[in-house]
Amino acid sequence: MPAADFNMNEIHWLMDMFNTVDVGLVVLDRDYKVCIWNGFMENHSGLLPSAVKDKDLFDLFPSIDEKWFRSKSESVFILKNRSFTIWEQQPYIFKFKNYRPITGKADHMYQNATFIPLSNTMGEVGHICIIIYDVTDEAVNKKELEAVNRKLELISQTDALTQLANRGHWENTLRQEFLRIKRSGGCSTLLMFDIDHFKKINDEHGHRCGDEALRNIADLLRKTLRETDVAGRYGGEEFAVTLLDTDKKGAQIFAERLRSVIENSSIFFDGQQVTMTVSVGFACFDSSFERHEKWIEAADKALYHSKENGRNLVSAFSDIPQS
Ligand code: GH3
Ligand code: MG
Ligand code: MG
Repeated sequence: MPAADFNMNEIHWLMDMFNTVDVGLVVLDRDYKVCIWNGFMENHSGLLPSAVKDKDLFDLFPSIDEKWFRSKSESVFILKNRSFTIWEQQPYIFKFKNYRPITGKADHMYQNATFIPLSNTMGEVGHICIIIYDVTDEAVNKKELEAVNRKLELISQTDALTQLANRGHWENTLRQEFLRIKRSGGCSTLLMFDIDHFKKINDEHGHRCGDEALRNIADLLRKTLRETDVAGRYGGEEFAVTLLDTDKKGAQIFAERLRSVIENSSIFFDGQQVTMTVSVGFACFDSSFERHEKWIEAADKALYHSKENGRNLVSAFSDIPQS
């Protein structure tokens, strides 16, 4: 084969490869005018090379963040070094639709990109090449995994019956509040309550009725709380609430309201009306508590004071005789 034919063949092959390769290839000059546009770019943008040739990139694609793109490219022109972008920083450079069948949930193509300096025979960089990689599959998989992990984390922190925080999660938030208040001061109050004679509800109406009663109390509690308060199911029929920035007076009002709302509510189970009451104890933060467990012990003591003094009552730790 004559040398000239061989070179022509090579150029032909290179052009074929250039147009069929599954990455985008774009060459820009110093004024951000498009010089080269391969088949990938044509297929995804719907713009023929002849339609983009010598056109300003930012006029063609107004959605490109021009300031960011220029600063990224300028360093490639000046420093003559490669530069990279990943979808986590910038989801895409060219806003192309996503047509992938499996990851069809994404409405646009996620892209990684490499910026390469192109030098002439004098070693001057007058052009840059941008390689665009379609990383939609990887991005969608990672985002789905993150969403599942967030869901799992939430499930692991939630009590299945009442949808309140479970004991572990609630106690973690209490510990954090304890450490914060020890460091920065303030007043928060820990409140605990326990359903009175709950065994009787289970015995007389069955365990399913008992479960319904627990859900009812959790709903009433949620309605009584402020957004910053954290409520949890501490044990079987025992609940705990951290009232942030709430002093004794505020806690007393909250506790009375909760006690009274529960006393005046009822559930209907198998056609029967079931009512219930709760005994409440609370303890305001005290700097003498060395650990958060001491705070829980104090609220628990107040709760048992209410139990011992007739139930359906509210007691403050600071009001009960200390033994
Ligand atoms: P007190 O007024 O002294 O608190 O009396 P009580 O009957 O409520 O006391 P106790 O703590 O001895 O009984 C709690 C009962 O709560 C016992 C247990 O069967 C029931 N219980 C705990 N968890 C659940 C639950 O998830 N569902 C139902 N239905 N019952 C539960
Ligand atoms: Mg009880
Ligand atoms: Mg109990």
